[in-house]
Amino acid sequence: MNQLPTRQIPGVYHRRFGEVLVTALSDGFVEMGYDIFREFSRDEVDRMMARDHRLSPPRISVNCFLLRGPMGRVLIDTGSQDNFGPTAGKLFENLAAAGVDPASIEHVLLTHCHPDHSAGLTDTRDGRRLFPNARLIVNRKEIAHWFSDEERDRADERKRLRYFDWTRAQVGPYRDAGLLDEAGDGDEVLPGITLLECAGHTPGHSTWAIRSQGRQMIVWGDLAHVPEVQVARPGVSMSFDHDPDLAARNRIALLQRIHDEDMLVAGMHIHFPGFGWLMRDGDGWRIATEQWAFEI
Ligand SMILES: [Zn+2]
Repeated sequence: MNQLPTRQIPGVYHRRFGEVLVTALSDGFVEMGYDIFREFSRDEVDRMMARDHRLSPPRISVNCFLLRGPMGRVLIDTGSQDNFGPTAGKLFENLAAAGVDPASIEHVLLTHCHPDHSAGLTDTRDGRRLFPNARLIVNRKEIAHWFSDEERDRADERKRLRYFDWTRAQVGPYRDAGLLDEAGDGDEVLPGITLLECAGHTPGHSTWAIRSQGRQMIVWGDLAHVPEVQVARPGVSMSFDHDPDLAARNRIALLQRIHDEDMLVAGMHIHFPGFGWLMRDGDGWRIATEQWAFEI
């Protein structure tokens, strides 16, 4: 019996999207508590998670997405490195398993600056950029906020450390080296990649729309942290949202648009590999996760 495997093979999944090869890379997962939701009871969380046969309190999966195509070699988000314990921070081993050298990445795009998305940018012990040849592209509202001393002074101690100081340590080395490009809502930052702002979770929280051969897909960042709850009930916000009401309003509007425009969804916190389609379900939505395919 001791011959049986005790862990999964690497969390790497390729999916062709028009001219683009999209590779989902698992960064692992983080076990959360009930207090992550704002104004949502423990019983309701348990009920909604049980409906989908999920663990409760929820487990949040963390994914990053690598794009290879007319836009070059682009990584969207960088995972959590060593900030969330042994179940997370797997991006680099999965990149290696996929045969991708971090030095070959030409652009890194962030959905926002939170430690499960931006912590893989830099070795903060020595300031070494872990994507040494990449330019970094981030919503300028995100940079303006997390680099503002005034905003930092207004924040509580925990946010000061985890959001402001950590962001500066992660993004700073790219900025100091002249490798940071700031973008705004609607900007096509690279061929076929457009920033679609969806603020609220953070001041410049961004999703990235990918267009290829007449189809659209959206890499939606933290539009939903716990899809079982927030896709079904998009009005539910998180305790760590910067502006929870704005986050909910923008989530509700963007979910509708994703459905109306028939976009393929790729989610940072949809369970690996994180691809699916949005379908109406009563007053809310559900995600029909995409079937595994052998042929790329
Ligand atoms: Zn997140």
